Amino acid sequence: MMREKLLNIIKKKVNQKAWRKWFSAFDVLEVTEDRVVFSVSNLFIKDWLEQKYGRVISLSVKEALGESREYEIVYVPGGHGDEVKTEELKSVKKIKVPGLNPDFTFENFVVGKGNEMAYKFAYKVAMEPGRFSPAFIYGGVGIGKTHLAQAIGNRIAALEKDIRMVYITSEGFMNEMIKALRENKMEEFREMYRKVDVFIMDDVQFLMGKNGVQFELFNTFNTLMDMKKQLVFCSDRAPSQLKDFQDRLISRFKMGIVIEMRLPDVETRKRIARKIAEREGGGLEEELLDFLAENIDGSLRELRGAIIKLIAYQEIEGKKVGIVEAIDLVSGFLRKKSTIDPSERLITILSGIFDTSPSMIRSKSRRANVVMARQIGMFFAKRYLKMSVRGIGKTFGRSPSVVSQTVKKVEEKIAENPIMKSYLNKILSHFSPAVGRESVE
Ligand code: ADP
Ligand code: MG
Repeated sequence: MMREKLLNIIKKKVNQKAWRKWFSAFDVLEVTEDRVVFSVSNLFIKDWLEQKYGRVISLSVKEALGESREYEIVYVPGGHGDEVKTEELKSVKKIKVPGLNPDFTFENFVVGKGNEMAYKFAYKVAMEPGRFSPAFIYGGVGIGKTHLAQAIGNRIAALEKDIRMVYITSEGFMNEMIKALRENKMEEFREMYRKVDVFIMDDVQFLMGKNGVQFELFNTFNTLMDMKKQLVFCSDRAPSQLKDFQDRLISRFKMGIVIEMRLPDVETRKRIARKIAEREGGGLEEELLDFLAENIDGSLRELRGAIIKLIAYQEIEGKKVGIVEAIDLVSGFLRKKSTIDPSERLITILSGIFDTSPSMIRSKSRRANVVMARQIGMFFAKRYLKMSVRGIGKTFGRSPSVVSQTVKKVEEKIAENPIMKSYLNKILSHFSPAVGRESVE
């Protein structure tokens, strides 16, 4: 009984996918006076659960028992749910590399225009570490460089059992070096970095003008290259664009593969938005994600920032967030702030699409195009903008009850009416605060 209760509570707290993926090999072993013991039949999953779901589990224990109690997850080989994917099994012996984000994998990397070549090169590097060294990945802020470099690290770590790897930002490298100098431990410092098989350094541009660290890096570089080790660098600019950088180091960077990355195009960004949302817990409407991908084109970091804020907001409020609210919540991320009231914007867009005018839409006219504009508009306002029935009534000059009826009518018709659907999409694609599309062609 307690077992069912506990498992159900946990199940409610995690999303479905995570439940299937991580809790299929998980069970309650025993509940005693002072602790709860869970079993899991896969070591890798055990680590994962402890790392990622510790809080969820302890909260669930508290909820089920009515008080906090210690818990433990023990590894019980051959229990149920042992049929884990080969990739996960391989990862049992996975080495742990500090600083590597387990989410930054090739599997989580959406490939499209802008990053496709970079992905292919990075993949190749990961499959044959040491062969294409150094790899130098560069491009603007927030376009996926760190993700890709870490994907290389994560993949190598998953495949090779006995490998030594470091992932470090160049700033981290510098700080370590300063510390070593201060503590008279330069020997250890050098040992540590010159003994690895894979050396990944992020944000190398930070070392511009830092001659001493460049010198140290140059020596590390040479030692590792002599031993045919894999080096990976990320930078916000091409090697030759690095200022105040030793020429000999720049020429070293250029001697392997230099990979340029660009901000992915809008279609790829839409898929990335979905992937990020899924990674971060999900729950956002697809239309909203598309909207964000279209209107946040500064960097994928901002896209992610907007997504996690909206996910958090939805969880706090316990309801779906619509485009109108979203514009308000993440306006700082959007290309250009919209000064226009979204309902006004909608009416303007409708006027354009249905070849009429705002005053006609608000009038009593029964002309077919006007009626259509009104109906689809009300539905759009409800479904996508998540406006209240009263607000929609005001916008369209109708009573709330008329709005309710209309929305219902459209709802019923829309499934088998492709024309209505395409109109909705049209409105959606125009509904952008970004380009100032006040008039619609
Ligand atoms: P950079 O290092 O270029 O500044 P990051 O690698 O930190 O950018 O990427 C910013 C965010 O966008 C990260 O959360 C990353 O996971 C995500 N991201 C970038 N590119 C992709 C992609 N192709 N697929 C999925 N997520 C991506
Ligand atoms: Mg980065």
